[in-house]
Amino acid sequence: MTFKDINLNNPLWKALDDSEITHPTTIQHKAFSVIMSGRDVTGIAQTGTGKTLAYLLPILKMWSFNKSRHATVLIMVPTRELVVQVVEAAERLGKYMNVVVKGVYGGTNLKTQAYELADGCDILVGTPGRLLDLGYHGTLNLKLIKKLVIDEVDEMLALGFRSQIEHLLDLLSEKRQNLMFSATMSEDVEVLIAEHFNDPEKIEAAPSGSPLSNINQVLYKVPNFNTKINLLHLLLESKPEMTKILMFCSTKALADELYVTIATKYPEITGVIHSNKDQNYRFNSVNRFQDGTFRMLIATDVIARGLDIQDVSHVINFDLPDEPQNYIHRIGRTGRADRKGEAISLVGDLDLDWLEEIEAFMQFKIPTLDLPQELEISDILTSSEIPQIKMKNSLGKLPKIKDEEKSAFQQKIAKNMRVNTKVSHKDKMHAKYGKPKTRGQKPKGKK
Ligand code: AMP
Repeated sequence: MTFKDINLNNPLWKALDDSEITHPTTIQHKAFSVIMSGRDVTGIAQTGTGKTLAYLLPILKMWSFNKSRHATVLIMVPTRELVVQVVEAAERLGKYMNVVVKGVYGGTNLKTQAYELADGCDILVGTPGRLLDLGYHGTLNLKLIKKLVIDEVDEMLALGFRSQIEHLLDLLSEKRQNLMFSATMSEDVEVLIAEHFNDPEKIEAAPSGSPLSNINQVLYKVPNFNTKINLLHLLLESKPEMTKILMFCSTKALADELYVTIATKYPEITGVIHSNKDQNYRFNSVNRFQDGTFRMLIATDVIARGLDIQDVSHVINFDLPDEPQNYIHRIGRTGRADRKGEAISLVGDLDLDWLEEIEAFMQFKIPTLDLPQELEISDILTSSEIPQIKMKNSLGKLPKIKDEEKSAFQQKIAKNMRVNTKVSHKDKMHAKYGKPKTRGQKPKGKK
């Protein structure tokens, strides 16, 4: 089956031709007619399965020009990088239609984004917090939204966006079509669906032919951090086929440490990305990795979720994630769109428990490679690798002393511990006369 067999229209067929996209993926094929029927849909699909086009194609097919140029389609995604990616995909697909797509996210000036939005927008892509702010600001009329997409919903809930998503859902018009995509169907996701969706149809990307089958997974058992670094240098020196490496680690601090360690030797070709880096830095790092300037990008799990970077030749797990699902997400950054990919995990003693869980989850034992003969095994341990000797408090818990039993000295200390708080004139007036009336009362729920 090709896209010509799907009831699209000329502008969409032409745009697909320009991108040389000819055959629908499983999720695109399954989602099209269900979304076109107007029903609510929950799609279980990871990035790499073509899910963005699975919802964009029917949405664009159904979209019709409205003179008011108020957004009628809202797409919620967890990260700023995904906002940019989805905006680009929608613009590419809509290039022969008169459709205006805009993206909004936090960490940038709210007023500037509000002005841009007021200038006209048909499809709005954004992160939940910023969309909510624009709703409260009044620039975004949430009652006009006819189609809502919540993408990577499991990740959004994991990032703690639940209350913002629920606030947004409460502000939307009841008459709308809800589409939701998630890599997993967790209990949290089920609750959200049960409360806000209307008898959704569930569609899944077929597990067979999923990205996993294109990816060759191997692991090295490496005793400690410094030996992992030595192995990494060895691999970088001896394997020219490692052209585009995405290296994952679990924490921002480790990502920074690795960056400093590796970039000292390869400053021009190494980048790092995590959520403490500012927006421009993040975009620059991804762009330079995308265009081949960087051979290696060091990333944490959250930030790399959903990133669609072309032709990643190797994923390296410097450590293993504590969630098996995240291992699948990590390695899924390579071997995309039917290409072959390689995933190499450096498994230290501290990672062994996670390895067991990951293998059980995949029902696949990752082959272990012998360490290269020339590898220098380091016996220098980092502070977190040095075994901690725990001293048990032999005194146990001290009995609580009642106030009247405290000595004069103890009472004096307690008094001195009290924090002096300064009460402003406004607070005094508030306590005396109640809440002042303001001209523009903030909407309910705004903090
Ligand atoms: P996604 O799962 O939406 O992140 O898409 C992953 C990648 O697959 C993107 O680079 C898309 O441009 C690409 N893609 C989406 N649909 C198709 C298709 N039908 N044929 C080939 N590539 C596709």
